[in-house]
This record gives sequence, structure tokens and C-alpha cells, in this order.
Amino acid sequence: MKFAPAKPALTGETLDSLTARLAERGEPAFRAGQILDWVYKKRARAWEDMTNLPKAMRAWLAETFELMPVALVLNRQSADVTDKLLLELGDRALIETVIIRAPQEGVGLDHSRKTICISTQVGCAMGCVFCASGLAGFKRDLSAGEIVAQLLQVCYREDERTPRARAELASFDNIVVMGMGEPLANYDALIRALTIVNAEWGLGFGARRITISTSGLVPKILKLADEPLGFRLAISLHGATDEVREQIMPVNRAYPLAKLIPAVKVFSEKHGRMVTLEFILIEGVNDSLDQARRLRTLALDLHAHVNLIPYNTVEGLPWKRPSLTRQDTFAEVLRQAGISTTLRREKGHDIAAACGQLRLQTERARTAPGEA
Ligand code: SAH
Ligand code: SF4
Repeated sequence: MKFAPAKPALTGETLDSLTARLAERGEPAFRAGQILDWVYKKRARAWEDMTNLPKAMRAWLAETFELMPVALVLNRQSADVTDKLLLELGDRALIETVIIRAPQEGVGLDHSRKTICISTQVGCAMGCVFCASGLAGFKRDLSAGEIVAQLLQVCYREDERTPRARAELASFDNIVVMGMGEPLANYDALIRALTIVNAEWGLGFGARRITISTSGLVPKILKLADEPLGFRLAISLHGATDEVREQIMPVNRAYPLAKLIPAVKVFSEKHGRMVTLEFILIEGVNDSLDQARRLRTLALDLHAHVNLIPYNTVEGLPWKRPSLTRQDTFAEVLRQAGISTTLRREKGHDIAAACGQLRLQTERARTAPGEA
């Protein structure tokens, strides 16, 4: 299903596309730069705030574009280090954007490193059996403007928390495309959005600090390898053999390991940087020593970093995380082989699991009896 908003989002425009729109009206090119400066650097929240634009132009902009296509409906800050923004789109669909703060010695949370986790679709069609995002099925792709707007909402939030942040281009350190949806299934909007995020006239955010996570759409991984901007890549592996991976990730039927691994190799060779293999540990499914050893072989072959994520339980799904000992034993097999391995235990660091669940709760509450 496509959603056709009454007005396109300004956050989906590039400097070129906006200049072209303005040129159609006989406006000079420098106006486009001024407008984008208001949006991304000065963080104007209303057209009236753009005081160096003629009134008539502001009126035309208001008629033509949506300044902010996503509205903040809920901000849930947990006791841990995550801060979740529940955002509502023009068609009332809900998405989540998560701010993960990594506390640093001696400084308060406001000065910690911040990673922002963004969504690219409403729901997900990939059908991984363990995932909350796919539970309610796939609704639609996000537009480029809706993807960019999530990051602007984070900037607004950070500006409110620390007024000094506004002076910075973007008040966060990393972006991970690990929220709801399969980013490479919404390829064009994703690349357009990240181009805007990266551009000097946009958020000016470095491509190397942006990680795209995919369940393994091989042709799109190869396409991504050819993009001029050097984004980082993370692969949701979750199974070190076809047998195990296929049980939990239907995508493995179309793109089994024999196709996926060579594509990842092409990517990492082109970019000369380490790819991350994500591996959720699910009890009795993929946490055996045999899986650990096979994962070790794959990681060594790809010269990849491995991120082990103890599974986060999802209401309504039967899967569980293995015991701490079992998690450690698994990690040790990789570490002993010299593979750079992270095993994250802190709740707030479970980036992925943080995404998708708040939305699911709200969707469920909406459709519960008593809700109109
Ligand atoms: N669709 C993309 C990106 C979004 S999912 C992908 O699959 O890579 C981001 C990560 O969260 C993936 O590695 C996914 O497998 C993981 N994930 C999903 N549900 C989870 C859960 N309940 N606990 C831990 N990780 C989960
Ligand atoms: Fe989609 Fe990723 Fe969840 Fe799989 S893990 S259903 S690809 S969001």
C-alpha cells in the first residue's frame, strides 16, 4: 500500500530538487539554501520562523510542503539509557525512533555518546519469526522525508534537553538503520534520505557513522557496494548454517549463505572496512557450540566483527535468551579465535529490540475493545 500525502514533505527534498521547484516559480536559487538552513541548522519548527524569506514565499511553502511529516506522540525514557520516540505519520501509522545513550565515565547522560536507531518501513514483510516488527505484517514503505524527519525530531528533542546542542550540526554520534522494516527493501527512499542526512546543506552527518542493517537482500547489498557514499553494513545473520537460518528467517530461501557470504565479501572489499555480523542468541535455536564454531569460520573468512545480541522476549512469541553461561561460552569460541566480538547485556544497548515494541503495544491498545 502506498500512502500519498496531500503535500510532500520538505524533509524529502534535496538542494537540487528544491532549487528546481523554486526556479519553476522564478525564484532565485539561493532561496533553496536559505530554506534548508532554516530546517536543518536553525531547526525552525514553523514557516513563520523563517524570517529572512518574503511573506509570499512562506505562504507558498506552507501550501506546497509539509514542514514536518511526523508528529511526536509519546516519548518514553526508560530507567536505562534508551529514549524512545513514538512518532505518528500522516496516515496515523506509528513508527519508533530510539536514542541510545552510552554513558561515559565522569560525564552526565547529556554528554554521553548517542546512537540513533531509525525505521524505514511501517511493519516489515520479511517475516523473521522472532521479530516484533514483522508481527503485525507490512503496511508500507516510509518516504525519504519521513526517514529524515525522524532524525530532525531527535534534534528537536536534544535541543530541548541541552540548548547548546542546537549550535551543532547534529547532536548525535551514530545512526543505525535498525528500527522497524527492512531498509534495503525500501532502497531508493533510504538512499535519498541518507544523502540528505549526509549533505552539507542537510544534517552534515558523515556516512561512515551510518550503519545499515539488512536481513540479507543480496542484489541490494551489491547495489549498496556501488554507492558513492561509504555507509557501514551490518548483516542480520542469526544462523551460521542454512538449516538454522532458514527456520527463523524466510529470506534465507531466496538468498542462502552461499549467495549472501560472497555478496558481503564484495561489499567489504570495495569499502575496505569491517562488516558487522549480528547474531541474536535464541535458546535452543542457534546457541549451540556447533553454531558458534561455524560462525567463527564465517567471521574469519569475512574478517568481520561479530555482535552477539541476547534475544529480547517479545510478548506473544515463544523465544527466549540463553543463560548467561551459555552466552559467554558462545562468545568465548569467537574471542579465542581473535574475532572482534561484542556481547551486550545492558538493556538499553539492545538497540534492535528497543525498536518495534513500543509501537506494537500502542497498535494493540488502539485496536483493543473500547477504542474507536
Ligand atoms: N530489517 C533489518 C533491520 C531492522 S531489525 C534487519 O533485520 O537487519 C534490526 C536487528 O534487530 C536485526 O538484527 C534483528 O534481527 C534484530 N532483532 C529483531 N527482533 C529482536 C529481538 N526480539 N531481540 C533482539 N534482536 C532482535
Ligand atoms: Fe524485518 Fe529485520 Fe524484523 Fe526480519 S529482523 S522481520 S528483516 S525488521
